[in-house]
Amino acid sequence: EIRVRFAPSPTGPLHIGGARSALFNWLLARKEGGKLILRIEDTDLERSTRESEENIKASLRWLGLDWDEGIDAGGDYGPYRQTERLDLYRQYTDKLLASGQAYYCFCTEEELEAERQAQMERGETPRYTGRCRNLPAADRERLAAAGHKPTVRFHVPENQQIIFKDMVRDTVSFDSNGVGDFVIVKSDGIPVYNYAVVLDDALMKITHVIRAEEHLSNTPRQILIYQALGLPLPQFGHISLILGKDRTKMSKRHGATSVEQYKKLGYLPAGIVNFLALLGWAPPGEQELFSADELINQFSMDRVAKNPAVFDVDKLNYINAYYMKQAAPELVTELALPHLQAAGYIGEHLPADRKEWLVKVVAELQGYISYAAQITEHIDVFFNDEFEFESDEAHAIMQDADVAKVIDVFKARLEALDPLAPAAVQAILKGITKELKLGGKKVYMPLRIAITGKMHGPELINLIPLIGKERTLARIASLLA
Ligand code: GLU
Repeated sequence: EIRVRFAPSPTGPLHIGGARSALFNWLLARKEGGKLILRIEDTDLERSTRESEENIKASLRWLGLDWDEGIDAGGDYGPYRQTERLDLYRQYTDKLLASGQAYYCFCTEEELEAERQAQMERGETPRYTGRCRNLPAADRERLAAAGHKPTVRFHVPENQQIIFKDMVRDTVSFDSNGVGDFVIVKSDGIPVYNYAVVLDDALMKITHVIRAEEHLSNTPRQILIYQALGLPLPQFGHISLILGKDRTKMSKRHGATSVEQYKKLGYLPAGIVNFLALLGWAPPGEQELFSADELINQFSMDRVAKNPAVFDVDKLNYINAYYMKQAAPELVTELALPHLQAAGYIGEHLPADRKEWLVKVVAELQGYISYAAQITEHIDVFFNDEFEFESDEAHAIMQDADVAKVIDVFKARLEALDPLAPAAVQAILKGITKELKLGGKKVYMPLRIAITGKMHGPELINLIPLIGKERTLARIASLLA
């Protein structure tokens, strides 16, 4: 059985890159009928918060990336928060200490820094010299008795080639001589990431470790620990960096970086998931729009690319627009509400009939936008009765000899119309083209301009009933006054 995990450090909101890692693990688990485990790696006590953990879980849930085991889900290999697993880690640390594969290090920060400086001055790459490796027991006891709190270092074996086959990067090899003995447990007893991650992945029976490329350089250290403890290795897959369009590492400069920000802007989970899947995974054909089920069907690790993925917001917007068009207007309205409030179109309280009207308005506009916040760029035509011609071209169209007739007949027919429904408005407009023997364009365009000032926009036959008879007639009167 395939067992994969997503193991975020709760030091901030779920980042787009983290969401992509979670997604690839989720896709593999769902495709292979395996299990996805959610583990919280909170050993950085200073930066980890419960708030971040909640944000990460909420973002995963919003994206529809459910997990089978772990935090909030339970399972046989818990607890699933690293700070609740310290006793477990301690047992393995004792083993490593007893076998001499790890040792206490009493070096102070100052001593280590002086050592690093000296190595750099000699032009060497700084690495721990192994000074405490053979510290006599008597010295250890003396230092401990004097209140010095040691770290635990892993004894890196010399002259070893660490070779593994990465699912994305193929064969990767490192020389153990390039890795100094590294700290696995800090002086406060808290294990470091590189150590805890190995014990957790092994104890939770993880079969595939799929994570960001930035961890590739950690992998040899982790493999050495697996080997020291005789634990079976999982398969590793390191997925490429995500770059901005300018080919530098994705950062806040490039716009929104957290899932939550995209949610607030009114993107849809289906759009984000579809877009994230294409950040590093190349589908076999030309298809770009995928439902979650289609992704599950088609996903495979051997189509995950080595080269960096480029975060192209235009592509995200194109993809999300597709889902926007299909979304229920009620949903798009909910997503748009805070933005409409912020832009002053609606107040805090929205009466039920007004809401009903707004949903219909949104239904007219959702086909023109990529994400809900953009509705504020298009909605003015429904709210604002005072406007000018948008351009000289629009103004010029209104000077045509036939326009006055069109407007007159339209006004008379509209006045007599009750109730106002799209089909009835359509009938009026068709009637005018026949009666005046004019092409559709010569009727629709001047009316559109007379009612909105613009040459493009939502369907006239829907727009007019939504604005209402009075406002429509008043608009025409004031523009042509
Ligand atoms: N806690 C690590 C991170 O958030 C997880 C890395 C891993 O998947 O091993 O970067």
